[in-house]
Amino acid sequence: MTNPTPELPDVVKENRPLPPGATFRFSCHPGVSCFNRCCADVNILLTPLDVLTLARRTGLSTREFLDRHTLVPITKELHLPVVMLKMGPEPEKRCPFSTPEGCGVYADRPWACRMYPVGMAIPPARAGVEPEPVYFLFEDDFCHGRSEPREWTVASWREDQGVVARETIEEGFREIVSHPYFIGGRTLDPKRIEMFFMACYDLDSFRDFVFESSFLKRFVLEPAEVERLRSDDVALLTFAFRWLRFALFGEPTMSVRTDTQR
Ligand code: SF4
Ligand code: SF4
Repeated sequence: MTNPTPELPDVVKENRPLPPGATFRFSCHPGVSCFNRCCADVNILLTPLDVLTLARRTGLSTREFLDRHTLVPITKELHLPVVMLKMGPEPEKRCPFSTPEGCGVYADRPWACRMYPVGMAIPPARAGVEPEPVYFLFEDDFCHGRSEPREWTVASWREDQGVVARETIEEGFREIVSHPYFIGGRTLDPKRIEMFFMACYDLDSFRDFVFESSFLKRFVLEPAEVERLRSDDVALLTFAFRWLRFALFGEPTMSVRTDTQR
């Protein structure tokens, strides 16, 4: 007999579960005694949109931002590379964007910073099952925001923090990382992992790849779309997710030009 409940990551079991409709109390503002304490020595996973918006915010190319501000830890368990925000020097290891007044990149702060104190985990992909996110509450002792009176549900918190709109842009990214291809521990070869990394995180290099290689001769794209990809970062990012499904998994998300169309 198979177990119908997918195995959840330990982080979910170790914290307070937040099923739909469950409420929690939280506020974060300069008046809390712990203000800014959490912006040091913390693991912040960056999504593709986080890297893009922080690169634009700091006036760096995506490659420069990745080199200066991120780490790409190598882990055996993960089938795809992840990007972490690099903290400042010891002993405090403060986030490079932390200021005495609070987050210095607040409008462009990463997904993980918006979500806190809510955590989210995606159960491992299983054949024929759409993976549903599972939410939980981090109950860190250092965070006094949970003693504040304002009450939230996961849905109202995520809406308030602008998470929902950002996740909509990144829908294609989630489809890739939880793709059925990976069921059973299957992995990609190094060349495809490199493609994934460039298209998701190094968007300026991906733009060069689209416009400075034979890319536009190989795929059928409408002229209006080509112009949008040239000038609109978000359009290019969502296009990158679409192209990756073709390049990594062989899905028919792109039309290849025939010889007569070249
Ligand atoms: S990006 Fe902003 S909110 Fe996130 S850890 Fe750094 S300073 Fe804190
Ligand atoms: S520890 Fe909690 S309440 Fe304090 S600044 Fe960080 S998120 Fe806000």
